[in-house]
Formats: sequence, structure tokens, C-alpha cells
Amino acid sequence: MDDKHDARTCPDDDTLRSYALGKLADRQAEAVEEHYFGCDRCWHEIERTVEVRASFDGAPRAGTSTMRRRTLQRLAMAAIVAIAALGLWLWIPPAGDGVILRGGEGALELSVGLTEGTWTAEWPAVPGATSYLLEVTTPDGRSLFSQETLQSKVEVTLPEDTAGVTYWKVQALDAMRQTIERSETIEVSVDP
Ligand SMILES: [Zn+2]
Repeated sequence: MDDKHDARTCPDDDTLRSYALGKLADRQAEAVEEHYFGCDRCWHEIERTVEVRASFDGAPRAGTSTMRRRTLQRLAMAAIVAIAALGLWLWIPPAGDGVILRGGEGALELSVGLTEGTWTAEWPAVPGATSYLLEVTTPDGRSLFSQETLQSKVEVTLPEDTAGVTYWKVQALDAMRQTIERSETIEVSVDP
């Protein structure tokens, strides 16, 4: 998260406190939220206000805990947006599986999953696409898997010795084999 503090763009403390106390109109509140996601100072100021209020009130009241929960959800969303903005996802698969990872918004949304030892890549059908090209490479561009398919889901078999970081991407091709949409590159760390 950006920890730069630019006083010119920070809402004043009264506004932050009003926000934390739920006293701002929706549009104003949204503007504050957009800002404090990226601003440690404002984030802490809002958190502090919520905590002070909770201690004045004794046990946190419904309003406070609702606000806090909403804030934490927002923070999680902000983190996701921040990662998506990089166009690259990092995912370390846990020992278990069935985990699905999705690429960023706006592009063809690629999902990579691992279920019972089998990798699958999936994406929504793109209007006008006649085929899809899924590619998995090493960071230095060596191909680990490449398949053109008419489906929007592919089972992926990686070479046995695959370990470490792999890059996954899919593109939708039209009848002239021109790319009409492409996914973000997803970075997936594969356990040996
Ligand atoms: Zn700020």
C-alpha cells in the first residue's frame, strides 16, 4: 500500500472522524474510502476514532462493529484491487487443493485451480472468439504448456519437474487468428 502522505489530498481530521462515526453522506463517505485505502495516515486515524468511540461506549455497539466489519471488507477489496492493478498475481498453493485464483478485472478473466493434483485453467466465453490459446511459461519465457482449444476450460499437465514460479495467460482468437481479448498474466508458484 502507498504510504506516501500528501496533506493536500487527505481529508481533514474532522471529515475522517465524521466518516468513522458514520455521519457522512454516502457520496462523501465514498470519497473518503477511495482515499484512505491508499493512505496509511488516514487509515490509522479512522481506526483510532473507531477504537476511541468503542472505549467510550464500553462494549462496542452494533454501529461500531458494523462499521469495523465493513471497513475490513473494504480493506480486503482494496488489497485485491491493488494487486490486480499490477497485472500479476502471486499465489503459493497450500498443501490442500481446490484453490482457485482469478486474474484482474477488465481483461479476460482467467481462473487457475488445482484439484486433486490436476491443474485447470478456465475463463468465460468471449463473444466472437473462435478459439482460445492458453500458455504457461517460466518467467524466462520457456513454454511449459500451450494449447489452443475451442472450449473455455483446459486441463493442464505441467512437465514433471516443474517447480517454482510459472506464468499463465489466455487469449481469445477470432477466425482470422487475431487476438480479440487477453487475460492478465497470473503468477502461480508450483510446489515441486
Ligand atoms: Zn490521507
